[in-house]
Amino acid sequence: MNKFRKEHMMTNCPNCGGINIGRLNKYSYFCRECFVEVAITRKNHIYVYIHSEDGMITRRIKVG
Ligand SMILES: [Zn+2]
Repeated sequence: MNKFRKEHMMTNCPNCGGINIGRLNKYSYFCRECFVEVAITRKNHIYVYIHSEDGMITRRIKVG
């Protein structure tokens, strides 16, 4: 009954394509090049969160 679970590993930023992306926690990453947060849902949908200068999330874009 063991189902193979492939963990989604983000190696490139889906917003800018940069590789300077660091892991925040199991389901989210942060790009240090374009300063967006990338979140992966349990269903492997990928969202990009764009923050404003005061740290508020201003836009959420579905990229995958
Ligand atoms: Zn980026």
